[in-house]
Amino acid sequence: MKKITIAIDGHSSCGKSTMAKDLARELGYVYIDTGAMYRAVTLYAIEADLFQEQDVDTEKLKAEMQNIHITFQFNPETGRPDTYLNNVRVEDRIRTMEVSSKVSLIAAIDFVRSAMVAQQQEMGQGGGVVMDGRDIGTTVFPNAELKIFVTASAEVRAERRYKELTGKGEECNYEEILENVIERDRIDSTRAVSPLRQADDAIVLDNSNLTIEEQKDWLIRQAKDRIGEE
Ligand code: C5P
Repeated sequence: MKKITIAIDGHSSCGKSTMAKDLARELGYVYIDTGAMYRAVTLYAIEADLFQEQDVDTEKLKAEMQNIHITFQFNPETGRPDTYLNNVRVEDRIRTMEVSSKVSLIAAIDFVRSAMVAQQQEMGQGGGVVMDGRDIGTTVFPNAELKIFVTASAEVRAERRYKELTGKGEECNYEEILENVIERDRIDSTRAVSPLRQADDAIVLDNSNLTIEEQKDWLIRQAKDRIGEE
């Protein structure tokens, strides 16, 4: 049976990665979390002191890009890939509020995007991949056989993020998260290079009122129908 490419794009914190990971497992496909790659570059920039508040030194970052190597390794305990930055596991450190508050600035930089997109295209060549992000269906794999665009109200998304972070023991504040979700969407949708937008041929999923199980079933149905047509 043909292995297709599945692109899952959408707004911040609407559960794309959970859906994409579950779908990949169900189909026996590879799951690639492209947001984790932009987060890893952001973590590198923070740790290399390239930020002054919300300003990043792009010249220095450009020179550092050759020293930033991002890979994924499957973690059998969680059933999903962990992100590694220069061979060090950074899966938890890339999910903090500090990284979330700076990642959209890094993701708007053209040379960062071209480097990440090239890696993503290489990882996904040959199909059999579920990739989630913001520009997968528009830029990374414009010919993906199945494109889903996920959204939910900002309040629902902030609530989910709040539960996720407090569940991990991170101190956080709902209002701050809500602001971050809205601000990231604003920067992501208005940037000059590959802005977040729904591909013309994407199927929209608003999961504000769906449980994880319901959306999982919906998505598996979409994928199996599409694979059956190939
Ligand atoms: O998916 P996640 O929320 O972890 O992504 C973090 C950030 O990375 C997004 O807010 C966006 O700025 C950026 N991103 C992107 N393009 C992608 C994936 C993520 O610009 N394909």
